[in-house]
Amino acid sequence: MKLFRDPAALRHWQRQEGGSLAFVPTMGNLHEGHLSLVRLARSRADRVLASIYVNPLQFGPEEDFARYPRTPAEDLLKLRESGCHAVFLPEDAVMYQGDRADRCTILPPPGLAGGLCGAFRPGHFSGVCTVVLKLLHMATPDLLVLGEKDYQQYRILERMARDLDLPVHVLAGPTRREADGLALSSRNGLLPPELRPMAPLLAAQLRELATLPEGGEAREAASLGMQNLQDAGFKMDYLELCDSDSLAPLARIQPGARWLAAGRLGGVRLIDNMVVA
Ligand code: AMP
Repeated sequence: MKLFRDPAALRHWQRQEGGSLAFVPTMGNLHEGHLSLVRLARSRADRVLASIYVNPLQFGPEEDFARYPRTPAEDLLKLRESGCHAVFLPEDAVMYQGDRADRCTILPPPGLAGGLCGAFRPGHFSGVCTVVLKLLHMATPDLLVLGEKDYQQYRILERMARDLDLPVHVLAGPTRREADGLALSSRNGLLPPELRPMAPLLAAQLRELATLPEGGEAREAASLGMQNLQDAGFKMDYLELCDSDSLAPLARIQPGARWLAAGRLGGVRLIDNMVVA
């Protein structure tokens, strides 16, 4: 497995090698969710490149950038075992130069990025789009492989690729979960141990909502669900039913729509989503 810290070396490798390249961007502290995307990428392309970079641009001033778990040595071993061909591990100085307030950044479409997490994390999706666009320019992959776990992020990046005519196909893999249903996340390890048993309630609540009959009132169901989760100790940001493509809020339950939720448990932000069968 090749390791690149410098975009010029990465570009050189990409130019030299033939065949197709799939790219899996990550912030590291890798778990089975990330590795499932590497395996999906392997099944769709000749070579797989993963990146590990905790992107400061997508964290707000009050958010957990400093305590975000960083485990590069373990991550590299896991990537090698998963059959990843190359890893890009850039330093901040390689990714961003100059004054943060005076940089060119990407503005994501307000229809997709304004609601849900976008409403609670100002600037987050601009930071995500900016770093992913830069990584795509550096790596020039044929395929960008993302996780459905971060569903809004997936839809926004897919739209960015389309709207900016990026020559990359965007693919999402399913959410991988713990045995108790909790979606795997690098932030799960930050949960206070005494609150860990409550964490799967988020997925359980979404699963229950996703089985409600077609035609039901979404807002009423959502506020009951929010209340259940608040009672269990979550500080909820949102719980909403949205169109799976446009992410527009929906008034009535319909097949193919998606329940999305975000909330804090013990100060740790958890997100999840589930599609209506
Ligand atoms: P992150 O390291 O959290 O930025 O995530 C990197 C990629 O892995 C993103 O495309 C995520 O959506 C995806 N991912 C994170 N958690 C999971 C999971 N539990 N199952 C599948 N994909 C995931």
